[in-house]
Amino acid sequence: MSKSAKHPETQCIHAGDTIDPLTGAVMPAIYPSSTYKQEAFGVWGDYAYSRNANPTRAALERCVAELEGGTNAFAFASGMAASSAVLELLPAGSHVVASRGMYGGSFRLFNRVRRHSQGLETDFVDCSDLAAVEAAIKPDTKLLWLESPVNPTLQVVDIEALAAIGHKLGVLVVVDNTFATPLGQQPLLLGADIVMHSCTKWMGGHSDTLGGILVVKEEKLAAELQLVSNATGGVLSPFESYLLLRGIKTLALRLNQHQSNCFAIARWLEKHPRVQEVRYPGLESHPQHELAKRQMNHFGAVVTFLIDGNKDDVAILFNSLEIFSIAEGLGGVESMIGHPPTMSHNSMLPEERKFLGIPDSMIRLSPGIENSNDLIADLEQAFARI
Ligand SMILES: *Cc1c(COP(=O)(O)O)cnc(C)c1O
Repeated sequence: MSKSAKHPETQCIHAGDTIDPLTGAVMPAIYPSSTYKQEAFGVWGDYAYSRNANPTRAALERCVAELEGGTNAFAFASGMAASSAVLELLPAGSHVVASRGMYGGSFRLFNRVRRHSQGLETDFVDCSDLAAVEAAIKPDTKLLWLESPVNPTLQVVDIEALAAIGHKLGVLVVVDNTFATPLGQQPLLLGADIVMHSCTKWMGGHSDTLGGILVVKEEKLAAELQLVSNATGGVLSPFESYLLLRGIKTLALRLNQHQSNCFAIARWLEKHPRVQEVRYPGLESHPQHELAKRQMNHFGAVVTFLIDGNKDDVAILFNSLEIFSIAEGLGGVESMIGHPPTMSHNSMLPEERKFLGIPDSMIRLSPGIENSNDLIADLEQAFARI
């Protein structure tokens, strides 16, 4: 059995061969050292200065590169720092085509910061419409930024078809794979050039680590990102790298429980009279369910739904919950509930949210790994109050 043919549960434990070669420690040491003694004048070892490379960070990078089927990975202090590093690859004044309804923070980075500092012009396109994406790519388009499933609408887009369009027209194809995790889908194998993750979510999995990572499969891009990472310096700390390695060990186990809780909750919500619509890629009613089955190994761990009610009802529902925490965040072992219009997507104007399909009645759940009966009972008693 080749390494890549191993099952996800096994890969999560062994990817990247992270056993410490010096001591045999089964978990890599946390190397806080910022610098490294040279053996002699002009003799450089593997490590020179920790902004450039650090052994603990390198262990994490090897692990995630292998999980994604890539060759090189670059870990950053947050998901946004990783995304920001991708944008450093683009010349000033570039045109970008991005997934409509992307993570709110990415929208803010592209449209508020980089528009101003780098002259980036971004068109937000419905990427389930392949012809619309092709039509949006212009001669000065340098980047196609995809996200699937999209946050918070959970639209699934065809990464393989979109990567083919991007490459035909000569643009760099990047996929924010946070919602799927490397176990859910491997965009590099579907043709993408760069995979980006917010490791803060399911990869870390314990709501105690902020981190981001980029993975590539091609030498030239790896060299360019190594330059950007070292030159701009937003790298992940050794301690955070260790926490992420620890989190990844149980990623497969956690995702199984997250997914089964999502199914149980989504099916329960579908039958509730105060719920207008439920979105989960694993449901037959999801508009891209067939694509999700083909493209993904699991359906992710977020359920989005629309209630029959107003913002006051949302507030009562949220304040009545006992197990779900009202929190800006996803992917922890504890269940969280969020209201995208006033939380994750609050930096957008109301008309921008309307354009992206995020109404005030939209609620996003990140079910944890508790018992699904308890989670449903919690929702049930909270719904009874609205
Ligand atoms: C959280 C998130 C990000 C940003 O990551 P941080 O680690 O919070 O900086 C980017 N994309 C998606 C889809 C996310 O959920």
